[in-house]
Amino acid sequence: MKKVAFYTLGCKLNYSETSTISRMFEDKGYQKVNFEEEADIYIINTCSVTENADKKCKKIVKEAKKLSPDSYVTIIGCYAQLKPEEISTIPGVDAVLGAAEKFRLIELLDGFVKEKQPKILASEIKEATNFNNAYSIHDRTRTFLKVQDGCNYGCAFCTIPLARGKSRSDSIANILDAAREIAQTDVKEVVLTGVNIGDFGIQDGRRVEKFVDLIQALDEVEGINRFRISSIEPNLLTNEAIEFVAQSKRFVPHFHIPLQSGSNKILRSMGRRYLRELYVDRVTKIKTLMPHCCIGVDVIVGFPGETDEDFLDTYNFLNELDISYLHVFTYSERANTRAAEMEEVVPMKKRNERSKMLRILSEKKRRKFYTENLGNTYTVLFEEDIEDGQMHGFTENYIRVAAKYDPLLVNETKEVTLVQINEKGNVEVSEPELVYEKH
Ligand code: SF4
Repeated sequence: MKKVAFYTLGCKLNYSETSTISRMFEDKGYQKVNFEEEADIYIINTCSVTENADKKCKKIVKEAKKLSPDSYVTIIGCYAQLKPEEISTIPGVDAVLGAAEKFRLIELLDGFVKEKQPKILASEIKEATNFNNAYSIHDRTRTFLKVQDGCNYGCAFCTIPLARGKSRSDSIANILDAAREIAQTDVKEVVLTGVNIGDFGIQDGRRVEKFVDLIQALDEVEGINRFRISSIEPNLLTNEAIEFVAQSKRFVPHFHIPLQSGSNKILRSMGRRYLRELYVDRVTKIKTLMPHCCIGVDVIVGFPGETDEDFLDTYNFLNELDISYLHVFTYSERANTRAAEMEEVVPMKKRNERSKMLRILSEKKRRKFYTENLGNTYTVLFEEDIEDGQMHGFTENYIRVAAKYDPLLVNETKEVTLVQINEKGNVEVSEPELVYEKH
């Protein structure tokens, strides 16, 4: 039995795809082993957004070759689509597959026989028009379910449309089948995943379904305790979707909404499809209907042309806004993007200083959000994540909770009252009974 091992870089979408590809191998009789083990085949799923993607890729290939010098090493993922030739020159790489080919790799690399030259099978990105469904079985607690792929937007800083192609989605019927399949496992939480999931519903180039219809349908799937919407563009987060989540049985009160900048000047130059006023409107709508809803925000600092004044604009805007945490990205130039050609480049030192300021603001926001929720009772889904004798889990509204380790609690939901914030910034809880919400 041939052994295959996987390594994934990047986002939830990559994790869901690696997981599905690994199940394809298992179905064909391969044995899946950990990446740290000897294997016959190594598959490395790369990301183009990761800093130093090239160096990371090289390091992982080296690692694989050290474990098994005769192994067959295949590179897939966004970086493979963007730079197939470059990757093929990395010593030890046997094959590079693009976005349109990666789900057919077992068939395309028939038998994984080594050849003198690395194989490059990467069509132009316009060929990536198929939707390949995927979900991860990464741990027992949570699954990333891919519902959409690609993006038709053209934000000036982003390489994702070049790496993943046009927006396309699975059908609601297929997604419901996948959700029912997941419901047969022990997984308790499903995170909807995609590149631009608010744009859900395009099939074969035509918009045929809507995101709100998808979440309404999923809400009826028995056997899954929670659905989480991972990240959704503010201009695509409709009132209808917010109103539905507010009264839904299974969709939790947590939104992650990319803002990227609080300066309208920078938003325009980034090519984002909204102004900051719309963002305030979305946050207000959510908080009016769900006062304890968690709202996470992506923000980029140091975009070309971002003056000290523009940055302060962003800082003050976020400081005033009723949000719960930030994901801060320091802008870095990516080849083949409009932003990489822009003038008024912000010096790296400044970018790093701004990033630090926003990270501190994020901690302040998170602490405030946690403090506001102390004394409230929520349901925690405990994970297999142990540290210093404590286990952790998240509430519906994404508060990270710490409790004394109890193996019986792993992957169980428990109703708890939030008591205090500990020195690590997690919330400690009272000790009520387990709620066995079995399927
Ligand atoms: S919406 Fe913009 S940032 Fe997001 S994937 Fe599409 S182009 Fe990239």
